[in-house]
Amino acid sequence: MALAFWNTLSNKKEKFIPKKEGEVSIYLCGPTVYDFLHIGNFRGAITFNLLRNWMEHEGYKVKFVYNYTDVDDKIINKAIEQGVKSTEVSEKFIKEFETDFNRMGLKPHDERPKVTEYMPEIIEFVDDLVKKEKAYEVDGEVFYAIDEFSEYGKLSKKKLDELEAGNRVEVDNRKKNPFDFVLWKPSKEGEPSWDSPWGKGRPGWHIECSAMIQSIFGKDTIDIHGGGIDLIFPHHENEIAQGEARTGCKYCNFWIHNNFINMKDQKMSKSLGNVVTARAFMDKYHPEVLKYLFLSAHYRSMLTVSDDKIFQVITALDRIYSALELANDVMISVTEKSDPESGFVKKLEALQGKIKKSLNDDLNSAEYISQIFEAVRTFNALGFKNKKWNAIHRANSQFFHDWMIEWGGFGALFQEKPTEMLNRLDEIVLIEKNLDKGKIESLVQERVKARENKDWAESDRIRDELSTMGIEVHDGSDKRPWSVKKSS
Ligand SMILES: [Zn+2]
Repeated sequence: MALAFWNTLSNKKEKFIPKKEGEVSIYLCGPTVYDFLHIGNFRGAITFNLLRNWMEHEGYKVKFVYNYTDVDDKIINKAIEQGVKSTEVSEKFIKEFETDFNRMGLKPHDERPKVTEYMPEIIEFVDDLVKKEKAYEVDGEVFYAIDEFSEYGKLSKKKLDELEAGNRVEVDNRKKNPFDFVLWKPSKEGEPSWDSPWGKGRPGWHIECSAMIQSIFGKDTIDIHGGGIDLIFPHHENEIAQGEARTGCKYCNFWIHNNFINMKDQKMSKSLGNVVTARAFMDKYHPEVLKYLFLSAHYRSMLTVSDDKIFQVITALDRIYSALELANDVMISVTEKSDPESGFVKKLEALQGKIKKSLNDDLNSAEYISQIFEAVRTFNALGFKNKKWNAIHRANSQFFHDWMIEWGGFGALFQEKPTEMLNRLDEIVLIEKNLDKGKIESLVQERVKARENKDWAESDRIRDELSTMGIEVHDGSDKRPWSVKKSS
């Protein structure tokens, strides 16, 4: 199957055809940098990281731009509250975002433009619209005239008359149409401001993305524009209106939107007070848990995040990393070389074919994850239990290990050191289950002593005690003498 995406603009799945053969331009709306980001903000970053890596694997040369909104009321208000300059707030949270992003191991974007760096381009854009009579100025404020753009509403499928009937819009007599939106506005006392043909002021929100896109990619059509579904209207609708009114050419071919995250069935938003920042989530669990959680659902489906769901992810990661740890153990303990079994290689190659089909089909990451899981099952079924490993076991392990690094890598998954990851997963479960690590370790030590004294009854008693606590002992393993049972 050729690469295809669900396109919000056409409202159907379409074969992906780049504007220039072999090249792809991608723009994703980035964060307003005034606070730590909640995990939902990273669904786009994680999804588009997979999309970008996959397209590169398929031979495309990708240019991926992700912007920072560093001029915004929320930033200004926070700066006033703290008595600092608004750039201090925005620069701090750009750094915090980058710390979180790097910790997730996602591939850096090719450019991360900031609004403050694009002020001349924004002003020139607004000026072009005014000159073309697609925008008008009233008292230092510039509005986009949506009546001058006959296709307004084509992305969100909203019709202007329905909008007017369905929404109570603040009456502003200066506007020609109540839905005309701000391109430029005068700055209030103490707010950041820039000189413009309409006096000192600052841009409205929507114009920044259009200005950055046309400055970075040029004034013709870009291939892919992404964002959360909440951005379809008005943000992306307005971007199209601005972009197409300025150039007369199609703004973007493919609009790809990811759905929301629910925290225990409540839509995540600040007002509900159930925000979990990505930072807090990664501290409590691990970046791998977040990436696996997000990619195990299709990006267009609503994803509910609950304790149960997180526990399922931990169990799955435990299975996968246990297989990777086993592969490492085999690779270390056998030195003889051989070729991997052709039957095993063929099975994994068949899974590759399935992954390719799934990812080409509107980036079906849920299917991608389940094929990875199938690879783990196939590897485990090779039979390593008796520990009499030979050169073929070693070659199969090496093949599996490299395969997981490569195919998991598209989703930035399975790149961690297995033993460290498994220990971390154990720790998470210990904390969740309120188990005392010190107590477990001393019981394990007591059991070792009982075994040394050949006191089998005592050894069995301790093993049973640990088992009731949910702890499994691994005799003969120095590296991991015990682990936490994940499947409940
Ligand atoms: Zn945007």
